[in-house]
Amino acid sequence: MTALDPMASVSLHAIVLRRRDLGETDRIVTLLSQESGKLDAVAKGARKPGSKSSGASELFTLSHIQLAEGRRLGIVTQWLVLDAFTRIRAELGLLARASYLCELTDKLVDDGEPCGEVYDLLRGALSLLEIGHGHPDTVVHAYELRLLEERGYAPALGCCVRCGKEWKGSPAAFSPMAGGLLCRACRGGVEATVMVRPATIQTMHTLKSGELTELGAMEWKPGVAAEVEACLNGCVRVRCERDIRSARFLEMVRGTEV
Ligand SMILES: [Zn+2]
Repeated sequence: MTALDPMASVSLHAIVLRRRDLGETDRIVTLLSQESGKLDAVAKGARKPGSKSSGASELFTLSHIQLAEGRRLGIVTQWLVLDAFTRIRAELGLLARASYLCELTDKLVDDGEPCGEVYDLLRGALSLLEIGHGHPDTVVHAYELRLLEERGYAPALGCCVRCGKEWKGSPAAFSPMAGGLLCRACRGGVEATVMVRPATIQTMHTLKSGELTELGAMEWKPGVAAEVEACLNGCVRVRCERDIRSARFLEMVRGTEV
């Protein structure tokens, strides 16, 4: 975050990505803001029951905030909650997915770098989960692919990542470590590849490039969901140096869903 002038205050639109306790009654929140990227700030009194900042500093709440300079971190002096995503909070499956999107974003975005596009993506994905737009994993996988692309880590889906040979619609090998599809000639000796059917590659194309608001109508062909999940889990693991705790939780929740 850029240093604030003494007594200066800035106005930001921000989503809470992470929070942890500070002292007796406060919290430190990691925010993804539209204007200044990712930053940490102090939410004073956030652990006092009934305080204004208590609800506003909950995970993935979207607020319009005033941020004043503090000694080490900025201090949120005002919260205007724009969306508390109450439906997501009420459903375990949605809560697990929204928590995962936030943790993934936190892991892949560095403090202070401009990332208005990532903010828009995350806000859009949370809104789609909230209104129940299609299968929630459609939103999750579209977000994973778009976030990876935004960060410069998009897997190669149109050609072999090694030799550049164009993919012509046949079953192929996908290697998260190599960064995408591998043709028959290049896949030898590459570990941890996922064999994927053409429909899986086509689905990942659509998830990456289709209009986000139109993905709700997307149909998942049998077997495709598991392959997309395996490919993208692999890509995310390669790019995140640390373990994603909420991914394990989401895995558990998915296991209980029919
Ligand atoms: Zn090749």
